[in-house]
Amino acid sequence: MFPDILALPFGKRECSIGPHGGPRRDAAGIRALRHFAVRCFLQPKHIASELWRENGRKPCSVAFGELYDLHDVASQGKCGSYEPLPFRIGRRRMESIYFVLTWLCHRRCRHCYDDRFRPYVRDELEQVVEQSQTNVPRIIDHLPESMMVTDSTGEKVKGRIIVSGGEVLLEPVRKSVLYPALEKIGSRYLGEVHLVVQTTGDRLTPRILDELLARNVSTISISGFDSYHVGINRPDRARALREQLLAMFEAAGVREAGNGPPGDDSPPLFNIFGANEDTWIGKLWPRGRAWKNGLSRAGMDDNFCNAWSGGLNFLEKGRTGSEVSIEPTGDVYPCCLKTRFPIGNLVHEHLDDIIDSLRDHPVYEAINRGKPETMGHAFGWTTERFLAESQIDTPQGRSYRNLCIGCDRFHEKVLGPMIESARQERLGQA
Ligand code: SF4
Ligand code: SF4
Repeated sequence: MFPDILALPFGKRECSIGPHGGPRRDAAGIRALRHFAVRCFLQPKHIASELWRENGRKPCSVAFGELYDLHDVASQGKCGSYEPLPFRIGRRRMESIYFVLTWLCHRRCRHCYDDRFRPYVRDELEQVVEQSQTNVPRIIDHLPESMMVTDSTGEKVKGRIIVSGGEVLLEPVRKSVLYPALEKIGSRYLGEVHLVVQTTGDRLTPRILDELLARNVSTISISGFDSYHVGINRPDRARALREQLLAMFEAAGVREAGNGPPGDDSPPLFNIFGANEDTWIGKLWPRGRAWKNGLSRAGMDDNFCNAWSGGLNFLEKGRTGSEVSIEPTGDVYPCCLKTRFPIGNLVHEHLDDIIDSLRDHPVYEAINRGKPETMGHAFGWTTERFLAESQIDTPQGRSYRNLCIGCDRFHEKVLGPMIESARQERLGQA
């Protein structure tokens, strides 16, 4: 009935793959897992994109907890049924807040998901920095009171806040925005949160690394090892940067996530990834410059909503698996791709209140289930209508179909006015 493999949880952070439950940390193990994924109609990115992104060197890294439930899936005989699997896999992910602190970046990558990530100079730079200095502390004040979340076994575990840009290590924002944010988050959630700093890595120095670790950063997440990031996109440059980073991490006692003994993933840790074909972001979202440049290769089978960074489980506040994304304006979204309209603004509102106001709302429940095609059922949009609205031409004139386009259209045509009225109600101004 099942493929001849089983994924077994080893403690909380390590998995092994093998026909007898024994560790299989090799390429064959990964192939078996991939085979399992395909047999179950799961896309590898839903399960283990983090696992084989480095040519299979780390089949058992579950930094984001996405592999645990393969055991449940296998033992409950759900193989072949598409629907329950992504939910099961997502269910135990750690609660996560993806917090973009600044629009400032030293690059203008052609695949970037938001046009606003770019270099700024003079007055514009001042404005962008000031926006973050003003908004970020207020946003932190409006985050949940506790970042401890309950997993499916009832155990309390630490949630995670990923701070990101742009590039948060650039001088204009590093000391004036990033460090105060880390300190405020750290003192607010003493011992209750994993703090992750996402950076392209080329601005990281031993001194900055020390400064981050002194502020209790538990993971340095290096993004940008792909063919798009200028300066990293050539193999020789990528190799040189990787070696430089590895040496820096080793000297500071920062270990690669998933490379420790089973059950021990204690910080500080690092990981390295990029928008490569076999990752969950590899096909590129139909957003920002990726969209304008016609780079997204996603189709209707690529349900970004039902995957890491998507809308899946965003309403499951207080439980592992919930995730929202925040931008420097304070606007908050159920997914990193960002819906056409935000669900609220954390400069003015508490995240808990926003989430509570959306619970049981048919549109957001559909997003929460990772099934955006059903979001309009209560409002006269059948699944067929939604799928038809998911078709669009790219700026280059190529026909393109993806569920996020249908979501955009539904927001524009139906949801926009409803969101505003819910917001006014929350603010007591209706
Ligand atoms: S992809 Fe990253 S590095 Fe490139 S412009 Fe966007 S935020 Fe900056
Ligand atoms: S379908 Fe909508 S909610 Fe889901 S990931 Fe796409 S934009 Fe976000």
